[in-house]
Amino acid sequence: MELEKEIQRYSKLNGYPMDAYEPLVCSCGCRELQLFSDDDEGGAFGICTKCEAEIDIENSKGFMEDTVQNLCRCDNDRLELGVGRAYYPDTSDARWVYVGARCGKCNLLGVYVDWKES
Ligand SMILES: [Zn+2]
Ligand SMILES: [Zn+2]
Repeated sequence: MELEKEIQRYSKLNGYPMDAYEPLVCSCGCRELQLFSDDDEGGAFGICTKCEAEIDIENSKGFMEDTVQNLCRCDNDRLELGVGRAYYPDTSDARWVYVGARCGKCNLLGVYVDWKES
């Protein structure tokens, strides 16, 4: 809930307020994920800390070039992730994607990567 609000706030400032929010949960039920992203090309995926499954966010992984792992400021790599989407008017086609995270250790919230869908 708090993470959803943070993404909402960020997306409003970005000019494309999010229309839909979804927590990223592994199919094994685990919510603690590692986050990898490319802020230039726009893309991100998560890796489950329990079963190591990879979760491609919005099929963006194929566009990624320089992948970095996102850590919290406290150096923790286990994050609870949420994805926000802003749609084109009157559609459910994503125009902008926001990936936010909440640290499981220090509770810091933030949007780590966002991109425009083309
Ligand atoms: Zn898993
Ligand atoms: Zn932290």
